[in-house]
Amino acid sequence: MQLAIIGGGPAGLSAAIRAREEGLTDVWVIERGKYLGGILNQCIHHGFGVHIFKEELTGPEYAQRLIDKAQALGVNFAMESMVIDITRERELTYVSSAGLVTVKAGAIILAMGCRERPRGAVGIPGARVAGIFAAGVAQELVNMKGYLPGKQAVILGSGDIGLIMARRLTLEGAKVMGVYEIMPYSGGLKRNIAQCLNDYDIPLHLSHTVTRTVGTRRLEGVYVAKVDESWQPMPETEHFVPCDTLLLSVGLIPENELSKKIGVALSPITGGALVNNRLETSVPGVFACGNVLHVHDLVDYVTLEAYAAAANAVRFVLGSGFDQTDKSDSDASIPIKTLAGVRYTVPALILPGSAASYTLHFRSERVYEPGTVKVLADGDVIKTVRKRIIIPGEMEKIEFELSSPASEISITIA
Ligand SMILES: Cc1cc2nc3c(=O)[nH]c(=O)nc-3n(C[C@H](O)[C@H](O)[C@H](O)COP(=O)(O)OP(=O)(O)OC[C@H]3O[C@@H](n4cnc5c(N)ncnc54)[C@H](O)[C@@H]3O)c2cc1C
Repeated sequence: MQLAIIGGGPAGLSAAIRAREEGLTDVWVIERGKYLGGILNQCIHHGFGVHIFKEELTGPEYAQRLIDKAQALGVNFAMESMVIDITRERELTYVSSAGLVTVKAGAIILAMGCRERPRGAVGIPGARVAGIFAAGVAQELVNMKGYLPGKQAVILGSGDIGLIMARRLTLEGAKVMGVYEIMPYSGGLKRNIAQCLNDYDIPLHLSHTVTRTVGTRRLEGVYVAKVDESWQPMPETEHFVPCDTLLLSVGLIPENELSKKIGVALSPITGGALVNNRLETSVPGVFACGNVLHVHDLVDYVTLEAYAAAANAVRFVLGSGFDQTDKSDSDASIPIKTLAGVRYTVPALILPGSAASYTLHFRSERVYEPGTVKVLADGDVIKTVRKRIIIPGEMEKIEFELSSPASEISITIA
């Protein structure tokens, strides 16, 4: 096969569409699930596709548009096929009803999405009681299986999944006691705070955390407390909140187990691959896009990123502009150094001379109101952008040109 795409979520589907549009004939999407569409299948709320389709679609509607297009373009699908191994020579092994299948691909696009951080990762003391769910699991139970996980809920973490689930549970008749967030700001989109919490009078408690759970078989409640500047609970503020359900919305982890097997260099901040501006990883011919690369707030940006990864993967397969030896272009790339205020950038490296201009997507470390973003080449400011507000929950981007050679690019917010 010319191109193997691992994962049939919006990233994988979008990448497949663009690869076919750019002329590859033998494009495969390998998906472990029964259905295409990835996480979108359980996101039945609207708000998807505002940028790409100029409409507010539900998750399944957005996914269906991509599926229809990919099918019309003749993309090949291996369903219920889980990729369990890949090699640096771009051989993939997947397990399916046909048994173990090994194929060789001209290029690989990693589009495996991410999974939720579990309770163990946040270390909340308390017994292993029923009633504690990752927010996405609760979303699947409610939206796809028709079960309500409980009647009185507390939500820990104010990322988008937690906010969406606060509204969903309320609409289904449960009482949401509050959303508790350890940071002094929400990790979710402003529009979700307005539409999912404020519209339903659900309180958001910033700088708060759950200190322990109560109950032996089913959850009976949680203790919550305000935290100080070093995120330590302040004992004098601790109090009990009755609930039978605790939803955890405490972060997502990119599914990079396969990437690690072939030595793809990963970011310690995002857990995603360190890619250059062609979205190529440190392994030649292996590209990454979507949530496996970094967690996106909007699926539209997943699609745009996947288009870019696919366009470059096509060029790699056709041998245009890529070093075909086992030397990644990342070796010739300049690292992007994140200075004060910037948590991470994607790409993490740029390949000089490979584009007329470069776009960095980045997240801030804290809220800036207003904020000034500066890009520097070897210490000289080459781009400055002022923004009214910059918040960690929303991805930002900045474009710049590199008119003369540089050995280091850095970015900062003040
Ligand atoms: C609760 C929630 C609410 C959201 N709300 C919005 C919203 O309102 N608006 C918006 O624009 N965006 C929203 N998003 C974001 C958007 O849905 C995601 O950014 C997007 O789905 C990520 O796409 P992806 O293809 O990278 O990952 P996924 O959708 O997770 O797809 C990854 C696919 O890869 C498959 N896979 C993984 N490993 C393997 C393997 N080894 N072999 C084969 N297949 C594999 C998985 O089965 C899955 O189908 C929301 C996300 C969530 C979780």
